[in-house]
Amino acid sequence: MKSTLQSPIQYLKGIGPKRADKFSKLGINSIEDLLYYFPRRYEDRTNFVLIKGLKEGQVQTIKAEIIAGGQRNSWRRRSFSITEAFVKDDSARISCVWFNRPYLKNYLKPGVKLILHGKPELRQNGLQMNNPEFEIISDEDEPLSAGRIVPVYSLPEGFSQRYFRRLIKQSLDSHVSQIIDCLAYDIRQRNNLLNLAQSLLNIHFPVDLKIQKQAYERLAFEEFFLFQIPLVLRKFKRKEKKGIVHKVKGDLLDDFLAHMPFVLTKSQLKVVDEIKKDMSGQAAMQRLLQGDVGSGKTIVALIAAAVAWQGGYQTAFMVPTEILARQHFEKIGSLMKEAKAGLLVSSLDKKEKQKIHRALKEGQIDILIGTHALLEEDVQFKNLGLVVIDEQHKFGVGQRALLPQKGINPDCLIMTATPIPRTLAITIYGDLDISIIDELPPGRQPVKTMYFTKKQRLKAYELVEAELKQGSQAYIVYPVIEESFALDMDGAKEMYQQLSAGVFKEFKLGLIHGRLKQQEQDEIMFKFKNKELDALVSTTVLEVGIDNPNATCMVVEEAHRFGLSQLHQLRGRVGRGEKQSFCMLVSDAQGQEAMARIQAMVQYSDGFKIAEEDLKIRGPGEFFGSRQHGLTELKIGNPLVQMQLLKRSREEAIKLLEHDERLEQRQNLALKEKLLQRFPEYEKLVMVG
Ligand code: ADP
Ligand code: MG
Repeated sequence: MKSTLQSPIQYLKGIGPKRADKFSKLGINSIEDLLYYFPRRYEDRTNFVLIKGLKEGQVQTIKAEIIAGGQRNSWRRRSFSITEAFVKDDSARISCVWFNRPYLKNYLKPGVKLILHGKPELRQNGLQMNNPEFEIISDEDEPLSAGRIVPVYSLPEGFSQRYFRRLIKQSLDSHVSQIIDCLAYDIRQRNNLLNLAQSLLNIHFPVDLKIQKQAYERLAFEEFFLFQIPLVLRKFKRKEKKGIVHKVKGDLLDDFLAHMPFVLTKSQLKVVDEIKKDMSGQAAMQRLLQGDVGSGKTIVALIAAAVAWQGGYQTAFMVPTEILARQHFEKIGSLMKEAKAGLLVSSLDKKEKQKIHRALKEGQIDILIGTHALLEEDVQFKNLGLVVIDEQHKFGVGQRALLPQKGINPDCLIMTATPIPRTLAITIYGDLDISIIDELPPGRQPVKTMYFTKKQRLKAYELVEAELKQGSQAYIVYPVIEESFALDMDGAKEMYQQLSAGVFKEFKLGLIHGRLKQQEQDEIMFKFKNKELDALVSTTVLEVGIDNPNATCMVVEEAHRFGLSQLHQLRGRVGRGEKQSFCMLVSDAQGQEAMARIQAMVQYSDGFKIAEEDLKIRGPGEFFGSRQHGLTELKIGNPLVQMQLLKRSREEAIKLLEHDERLEQRQNLALKEKLLQRFPEYEKLVMVG
């Protein structure tokens, strides 16, 4: 029987169950999967650099032969091995070195020819390549691996590039006639895209780099497009469903707005308008509110809650930490005195919880604020009208979806302080509407951010001391509670002792971390807010949301241990008042990535910019995390680099679904089939509503 693209790869010659298993680990099960396993990079073997012509510090590829190879242990650390090979071509010779890969010595024998890919660095004896990638060539006469642009794949041990190349070529050749394009002709035409067969051929074995780029674009477009369709469809479906029509005009809201402690910024007003429009409309609101730390999202959410409240609806307000829940609870208490607010967090005892549950069910609570305790089954509302989720990135997609199910199609406001550019946000959170607060309340000055090595740490402390003497307050943040000798890392607990008895002995310090009882944490936060404490020594428990405008400086120890977005969140705890604030990053890290993060922090204060840098450093998969379904599965498209392509793919998805929501037209059948393979839930999605 002839194999099809959907046949398991065991149909291919030489692949038994054992091999198939290994392929499966790479996500390759069918022949189609194999064709969609794209090269990691290419090597232009039409043209190698001569060793003599190598330039320092640039990634280059050479073809050479080993003259001598060997292995030694580092004289500094016994456990550390160094494998070395001297290689030559017709022009010169060079030393290549690999660290801690002792098994390489078995391959690197004199006489072996190989292609080396790496960055030469200048050493005492001239240039040297450290840890170059290499491929042994025993196949110089093989057309797939020589004299052309050659694909290089990410492969596990035991798979040679040469084997893989041949396998792909063979599968392409024997199945190319079966490849049906999932992008309709007019979509390709409008967007200037190659057809699928051509693209697959040229992504693996490009004739030149120009066509490789076209193939790449086409495949990235396809990937984005398939990713957008379910999102767009979800949005369509949502708008068809009837939600609550909230009453946005009324005395309660007017009264609330009239008694606010400050004037809303233009940005806040605009967002409030967008929310009011959504809430008073037929469809249920699904709005993502993006705004940098300190931009004033809370008050916007409270206005939405006031809208729900004056129409007799309840609001559920979920936040990631207990400290934050309590802080918001207090704020509601002071700003919306007539509304009945409830607090539900895990640390309440059973009786207290039951009391809340009862009151909620009877409609005695207008606004319930709490942590993921809100998701528990016994939490039942009388008439839930609005769901607010603060710091959404701290929750999983599943968790976020649970809360609205406690009502009948309530309005949802989802807030995040990790803002990303609008084009990206629209496409990634494709089923949500998006609002952005892009200014800070007046009078704020950007936080001055500085970098110190551990040796210079005292300078940072001096600055803290000067601030404390003026009556301001400070945070000193550590990545861990207890010090770690293994990681050579200070911990909050010991440093609290040390700092209280040493540098800061004139001041009152508090210690706060996640292992303290909730009540103790609350007491400390309360004292800090009340200015009974001058400084807080802490872990990242205060990462999100803590609001004390009198705190003007923060020292982050071991700053390289934190992610960029996390550092930015931490920094957001200061600079909340009108006084100049400071953020001091202390680190001895040398790593490139760590330095890039610290550098970005020193350079940028704008959260959008920070998020963009973070995306660049970590790549979209890491950045969005496994929680953000879909994006991490992108194999080829990089939404940051190909933002325009992403945008166009969304526009096409909208156009397509407007005309053929069920994908029943002939030219869309191939697309439907592919979609169902990738998103089996698609069918269900079409059927609802
Ligand atoms: P975030 O967006 O990080 O959640 P918050 O809602 O906590 O920010 O607001 C940060 C601080 O700014 C709070 O102290 C809040 O009361 C204050 N604030 C919010 N909006 C304004 C405004 N329009 N004018 C002055 N201060 C404001
Ligand atoms: Mg907030």
